[in-house]
Amino acid sequence: MRKLEKVFCGRMDHGGCGLIVYVEDGEITKIEGDPESHTQGYVCAKGRAHIERIYHPDRLKHPLKRIGGRGENKW
Ligand code: SF4
Repeated sequence: MRKLEKVFCGRMDHGGCGLIVYVEDGEITKIEGDPESHTQGYVCAKGRAHIERIYHPDRLKHPLKRIGGRGENKW
């Protein structure tokens, strides 16, 4: 089921751009600017890239604890 959510971009430049987020089966499928918000539908490249950022396989989803020495890149 497709659902629309009106939100503000979390980066919060100039108060945060108003966005419309489309969610299908619990997953964001599309983000566009909200023409009814104070930013009148504007959304920059960073705002449009939220989907890639959120679902990127290398995204850290919890804190990591270092198990090796400094600079060994072991977590
Ligand atoms: S859409 Fe872009 S300009 Fe607007 S708050 Fe987000 S990052 Fe900032």
